[in-house]
Amino acid sequence: MKYRNKLFSYKKPYDLISTQKLFNKAVLENCKYQYKNCTEYRKILDGMSFNPEKINVNGDIPDNIIEKIPVIPTLLFKRMKMFSVPERKIPIKATSSGTSGKNVSEIGFDLGSLVCGLKMVLKVGRARDIFSLIPCHYIIMGYQPHKSNKTAVTKTAFGATLFTPCLSRTYILKYKNGKYIPDFKGVIGKLKILEKSSFPCRFMGFPAYTFFLLKIMREKGITIKLPVGSKILLGGGWKQFYAEQPDKTEFYRLSEEVLGVSEENIIEFFGAVEHPVLYCDCKNHHFHIPIYSRVTIRDVDTLKPIGYGETGLVNLITPMVKATPVLSVMTDDLGILRKGKECGCGNPSPYLEIVGRVAPESLKTCAAGAAEMLKNI
Ligand SMILES: [Zn+2]
Repeated sequence: MKYRNKLFSYKKPYDLISTQKLFNKAVLENCKYQYKNCTEYRKILDGMSFNPEKINVNGDIPDNIIEKIPVIPTLLFKRMKMFSVPERKIPIKATSSGTSGKNVSEIGFDLGSLVCGLKMVLKVGRARDIFSLIPCHYIIMGYQPHKSNKTAVTKTAFGATLFTPCLSRTYILKYKNGKYIPDFKGVIGKLKILEKSSFPCRFMGFPAYTFFLLKIMREKGITIKLPVGSKILLGGGWKQFYAEQPDKTEFYRLSEEVLGVSEENIIEFFGAVEHPVLYCDCKNHHFHIPIYSRVTIRDVDTLKPIGYGETGLVNLITPMVKATPVLSVMTDDLGILRKGKECGCGNPSPYLEIVGRVAPESLKTCAAGAAEMLKNI
């Protein structure tokens, strides 16, 4: 994985143009590896008449290699496990946060991918100034870790508490008698204490629970002024609360009113267990694409790549992981890709807007696609 390691060691995290050739090499290198070492993946590619062994990494790699490599629907990872290294050599396995055991993807991470992931988090995070030596109290708007919980969101939320020295961790979702229960009262009580602390407070976790907390506090007439330097970090998406998602400006207004945290101190992350690249929003709250990934928007019916400004299925590509073939995956999100200069923050890299979930009839297309692939395997 020499090209992968080179890509993740590159200094500028948003310099897509200078790294394009290297990215293509890393993608091809990963595709060849998966083809050779993962039987299921090989069968899928054979079924689609795509043989990466015919392309030489040091020769002429087609410019559209990223679009050419067969796309695996994330749904397929929910139906079956796919590993490309022996399971005993996989130090970490993480799952998506499906509520039932059935609809959960299990993705293996090799040691190399974890090292790459760390380099990526350091560079993307530094660009948004999320690391600090000033200790913080953490309010985790997510799951309290428990040995039965292997979800990636739990691991990443915990990881985020290492961005600064951590003084305390308070969880909204507490594990009691085999299930998770939200504890808004406990969190509000803790916030009243933290208001008087001489150290800042950081939120990390699901935007939905954070929003519900803000609403509950406003309804009860509780307002708090968190210490200077406090931040709200959001990650993990809206999940089952998609319909309740407010306008972003309403969210920012409410957090200023209830917690005294202004918009510039609210940072959102985007990522998925099947595509573990860290997307961090810019000051205008847009997810610019870092050098570690590429995004192709595809027509909902034909799956053909479409251009900037058009809505379609979101296809995410990264050569980060060796242990599972998550090289090019199709999510059930609908998105639009926009040119970097449209944002105005100065980051030249294109940015991704998630505009919704795929309608049930299109999801059927994806499910049929996944079923078709399963048949080949
Ligand atoms: Zn921007």
